[in-house]
Amino acid sequence: MFRINENFLNLSESYLFNQISKKVDDFISYKPVTDLIRLGIGDVTLPLPSSIVRSMHSAVNEMSTIETFRGYGPEQGYSFLRERIAEVDYSQRGINVSPDEIFISDGSKSDTGNIGDILGDDNVIAITDPVYPVYLDTTIMRIGKSGKILLLNCDEERGFLPELPNEHVDVVYLCYPNNPTGTVMTKQELKKWVEWSLENGSLILFDAAYEAYIQDENIPKSIYEIENADKCAIEFRSFSKNAGFTGLRCSFTVVPKSLMSKLKNGSEVSLNNLWKRRQSTKFNGTDYIVQRAAEAVYTAEGQIEVGEMVNYYMHNASIIRNSLLMKGWTVFGGENSPYVWLKCPHELDSWAFFDQLLNNCHIVGTPGVGFGSNGQGYFRMTAFNSHEKTEEAIRRINTNY
Ligand code: PLP
Repeated sequence: MFRINENFLNLSESYLFNQISKKVDDFISYKPVTDLIRLGIGDVTLPLPSSIVRSMHSAVNEMSTIETFRGYGPEQGYSFLRERIAEVDYSQRGINVSPDEIFISDGSKSDTGNIGDILGDDNVIAITDPVYPVYLDTTIMRIGKSGKILLLNCDEERGFLPELPNEHVDVVYLCYPNNPTGTVMTKQELKKWVEWSLENGSLILFDAAYEAYIQDENIPKSIYEIENADKCAIEFRSFSKNAGFTGLRCSFTVVPKSLMSKLKNGSEVSLNNLWKRRQSTKFNGTDYIVQRAAEAVYTAEGQIEVGEMVNYYMHNASIIRNSLLMKGWTVFGGENSPYVWLKCPHELDSWAFFDQLLNNCHIVGTPGVGFGSNGQGYFRMTAFNSHEKTEEAIRRINTNY
């Protein structure tokens, strides 16, 4: 009899957002409302900027003639895109990342989930609680619900930031600006982690999917702003929230060449080589048309357009944040992040507040407990809707609470 990967049996029954959609579908089938406002899943709503659409159209035309048709591309991504990323996202910010340290992919969900392929199963993995559920779920899929997973408590008392672990940890996932809490790490805070990691020979998996939302110039957008982070960290970036690519699918991962792991016999192995080997075996590259779309993000026009998009969402974040603060609610995030994290009113638990908000206000949010046990009693609202719907959502909350 064949056997399954029994680690899957240790996962919760469904992914958080599937669970939410099912609840919403059940609600609509029982009460067919037409005025639902979705501030739940972190999906963007604005259409793609025109410079990006133009670039895709021209790539589509290239695919239609024999002279310019493209088949399989380089697994690591086209150099036209990797060079622009190295220049605009890193070099212009005084960070040294070379194009061959950049791997283009189809999303940070895949990359943060797949990175475990190049890591040993006996590593102790630390994951902050609460956080984007993919890190924990993919780790459980790989190594099971073993004692090798350490959850780092990020509660209100700690400002939703993790403390350096007291016990031995080999790998830690850090996500800043954080999903779901919207908290950020200062340079000093991140420096502490880099120093800890270098001292302990640990690896940091740094998810910077929301870096474009950072407004405060003193908050690092990349972990490589910290000295020597290239020796201990992999960085994940995505075009999803930064440029509206949730439907197009494009991201990149930086694996510095100076990032090495020691084998038991003392010899060193480059993680850049391992990831290249992994990607060229299991991944056939991101769509050419999509990579041309991503390239357009780095043109002068593209930079202005995606900047306007981020500002649009950040305006919503400040509407939500400030209105709830004015009501006297306890609110976090929303200043350098598209997520507002709030303490559920009247000491409700996360799902009870979810149900109340859905039933009474026809608003869909995300229960904090879905991101980890420290999220119990908290709730996440996203800024990824229109100004009008965001304002209407606040009106409804003000009427009902
Ligand atoms: N990382 C974080 C922290 C996220 O919140 C998300 C999506 O919500 C992702 C990664 C996934 O992004 P992508 O669309 O690039 O797969």
